[in-house]
Amino acid sequence: MTDHKLLVRRAAVLGAGVMGAQIAAHLTAAGIPVDLYDLPSDDKPRSKIAAGAVANLLKLKPAPLASKDLAAFITPRNFDDDLAQLEHCDFIIEAIVERMDIKKSLYEKIGPHIHADAFFVTNTSGLSITELADVVPDALKDRFCGVHFFNPPRYMHLVELIPHPGTDGKVLDLLEDFLTRNLGKGVVRCRDTANFIANRVGVFTMWSTMHHAQRMGLGFDTVDALTGPAIGRPKSATFRLADVVGLDTMANVIRTMDAKLTDDPWHDLFKAPDWLGKLIEAGALGQKAGAGVFRKE
Ligand code: NAD
Repeated sequence: MTDHKLLVRRAAVLGAGVMGAQIAAHLTAAGIPVDLYDLPSDDKPRSKIAAGAVANLLKLKPAPLASKDLAAFITPRNFDDDLAQLEHCDFIIEAIVERMDIKKSLYEKIGPHIHADAFFVTNTSGLSITELADVVPDALKDRFCGVHFFNPPRYMHLVELIPHPGTDGKVLDLLEDFLTRNLGKGVVRCRDTANFIANRVGVFTMWSTMHHAQRMGLGFDTVDALTGPAIGRPKSATFRLADVVGLDTMANVIRTMDAKLTDDPWHDLFKAPDWLGKLIEAGALGQKAGAGVFRKE
């Protein structure tokens, strides 16, 4: 690798959910055309896949492009019909559901279609990058790592960069430069531990608050009044934040801590409370579903 800069002419974002749509918007705002992939489904036809990202672009201030031009920069794709298009992408970031089995089976499916010089990274919140790397094609392994954006990416400055043992150090330098210079982020390099750094701390804080609240019989509104505006966090009160993240994603993230941190003295905290499972079962997954702990404002 002789270039000192990562030139991304076209990117692919795999997964058009909460994070994928926003990451696609962020890349587009930096002038990079994006192919935005998701499952083919009646719930999410191609037109809707791009709509989420375009809506996110319109929230950026100042708007990067006139709204009529935005759609042209984001091409909706699906994993069944459009995998051949992946070979035109230099930078591919996976942002599908936080499940090791599902991510691995997608990697096996897409591996043969990724250009051998492309950078392939994952936005996982905390699954093992080393285990995911096992199913990345050999030719791409040295360019695979975690690139963990935070929600919402248009406000959150932090991106965690997480190598596995086979990631090339020069790749990390190139990615750090790209994330900093082109996308305006601040990068922290992490070791490949369960939920890395920020989520490990953040989830612990959130989870212990939830457990204490339950023990003390405090309602959702009371907890949010105490952990939100009152302490200068108007947008990240405990349960409001859970709805923004997505309750199913949050349950998967906590499952990683439960499974991997068995020696942690606070391990008993890493169990999902009953109410969480009930909301998920009822389809109340948070803001993305229009209802979660609270209804969408
Ligand atoms: P989401 O539930 O909003 O979207 C997940 C997407 O995965 C959906 O569009 C869905 O159609 C797709 N998907 C589901 N099953 C699939 C399959 N079998 N094959 C291919 N695609 C499939 O999730 P999200 O919140 O956008 O999270 C995506 C990733 O980003 C996860 O790894 C998550 O941990 C991580 N992340 C989430 C947040 C957050 O706050 N939500 C923050 C940082 C990182």
